Amino acid sequence: MKTFAYERPTTLADAIALLDIHGPDARLLAGGTDLIIRLRDGSAQPKVVIDVKRIAELSPAIREQDGIVTIGATAVVADIAASALVKHHFEALAEAAAVVGSVQIRNRATIGGNICNASPAADTAPSLMVYGAVIVATGSKGTRRIPIDDFFVRSGVTTLARGELVTAVELPIPTCRTVAVHMRRTRRRGHDLASVTLCCAMDETGTTRLAYGSVGPRPVLVADGTGVLAAGNAPAEAKAAIFERMFADASPSKRSMRAGPEYRQAMLRVLGSRAVQALMERMAAERPTEA
Ligand SMILES: Cc1cc2nc3c(=O)[nH]c(=O)nc-3n(C[C@H](O)[C@H](O)[C@H](O)COP(=O)(O)OP(=O)(O)OC[C@H]3O[C@@H](n4cnc5c(N)ncnc54)[C@H](O)[C@@H]3O)c2cc1C
Repeated sequence: MKTFAYERPTTLADAIALLDIHGPDARLLAGGTDLIIRLRDGSAQPKVVIDVKRIAELSPAIREQDGIVTIGATAVVADIAASALVKHHFEALAEAAAVVGSVQIRNRATIGGNICNASPAADTAPSLMVYGAVIVATGSKGTRRIPIDDFFVRSGVTTLARGELVTAVELPIPTCRTVAVHMRRTRRRGHDLASVTLCCAMDETGTTRLAYGSVGPRPVLVADGTGVLAAGNAPAEAKAAIFERMFADASPSKRSMRAGPEYRQAMLRVLGSRAVQALMERMAAERPTEA
């Protein structure tokens, strides 16, 4: 590992000043579960590492105000998985957080690091996308809010500008009854990155939102407003045709060591069907009984 200077600012202003001074020579460090590996293998060689965990404005708090749940950038996925607020309003995000890596990884890995690392396999990305999350980013030019679908570019690349850092993720609480589920396929049970990751949400109007990852350079968000996927009596061919349209942007790599493209394409459809089935059952089970 190459040597580097280590900075641990406690305010956002100090962190931004450090980013401005050091430019491309600086890298932010949160839980370190992605970055430390890159420092060790030499694929990242910053001159300065800026630890963000003590910055007050990036606090790991998860709180609700005015119909928005805000998750601080340094919240670890173990706490997101256990949060009553998240489980109540965003069950699929809690499910996704609960399957990241291992207990040790989940206790270190932050939500900010998970999305800023921009791995196509990032488990929190699909659920954040179906819930319409907004990324709060701050730099020397001020704060901006980026819809998550405009955040990912390709593996390791986001639309964050140089000198900006993520302070929080905002999630609008759904205004109508919505159920959602996170699913993923791994080579083996337990500790592994996803070969396919998928989140599906269905609301009481019949709209289905689906986001999938690990099958292309970035996660993809699609929606279907026809109501066909949510209709119990719709023919299987009609549902299959909608899935074909929804999965049109999947482009799994031929070079991945995890799974071949044909397998990933097939599993996408299997997970999509399972997710829709699970959500129809959840919706029916939770439907208020008529007087
Ligand atoms: C053994 C192992 C298993 C794993 N399993 C999974 C898995 O199942 N699912 C999954 O999704 N991931 C998995 N990961 C990847 C990793 O744990 C996650 O991506 C994690 O959420 C990264 O968060 P972190 O806080 O550790 O990020 P760090 O490693 O600290 O940072 C990651 C990147 O994000 C940048 N960054 C961090 N915080 C900010 C911020 N606030 N603003 C701007 N940039 C920032 C850093 O500069 C760096 O480039 C695994 C990793 C390991 C080592």
